[in-house]
Amino acid sequence: MEHEGILVVISGFAGAGKGTIVKGLIEGYDNYALSVSMTTRQPRPGEKNGEAYFFVSREEFEKTIEEGGLIEHARYVDNYYGTPKAYVEEKLKAGRDVILEIELQGALQVRKLYPEALLLFVTPPSAEILKKRLTDRGTETPEVIKKRMNRAAEEAEMMDKYDYIIVNDKIEESIAHTHAVIQAAHSVPFRMKKLTESLQKDLLEMSKQ
Ligand code: 5GP
Repeated sequence: MEHEGILVVISGFAGAGKGTIVKGLIEGYDNYALSVSMTTRQPRPGEKNGEAYFFVSREEFEKTIEEGGLIEHARYVDNYYGTPKAYVEEKLKAGRDVILEIELQGALQVRKLYPEALLLFVTPPSAEILKKRLTDRGTETPEVIKKRMNRAAEEAEMMDKYDYIIVNDKIEESIAHTHAVIQAAHSVPFRMKKLTESLQKDLLEMSKQ
């Protein structure tokens, strides 16, 4: 499948700051489109339906899966999350780099379906900082924090499945660095097939003249 835009998957430990990086990309640069996921989790205070997520019931979520409406879906700490397909396809075709902020199982499904996707993993510089950020956020109960830390330990084993690891220490630098990595990915030969093929063809013809 050939697309103009890059499908950019951003994963990372809960509390790693990936949400802030994604926000910085969307607000700071023109070419990104952010996919809004569907979830069965309850909205947190301030989260609006259709902005943070499409908040749906378990039945609605399952119906969307059956209809083939999701690119990927996964269970994460007692809830389901999934990426609606239509928006992603439309924006990629329009040449936008589409960002999916999703967890590891979903990222691996995306890798299979879209081998040209770019997979980025965001981590804080250390486990202590991760725990502190997760606790300081103050939106989760201690039990949920514990589950998310356990999940982080599992995810840490899989970091090498990603194309790049972004160490989020100073947020402004991390945003600029992530943008630079995505820009560089556009220059990888397999994403420049149109140009390389036309150059090869033209040069071959010229060499015959
Ligand atoms: P949260 O409940 O904190 O908003 O999200 C929990 C986890 O689910 C995060 O790691 C987030 O990146 C991930 N997530 C959000 N949307 C999706 C999605 O559509 N698919 C998958 N696989 N994971 C998602």
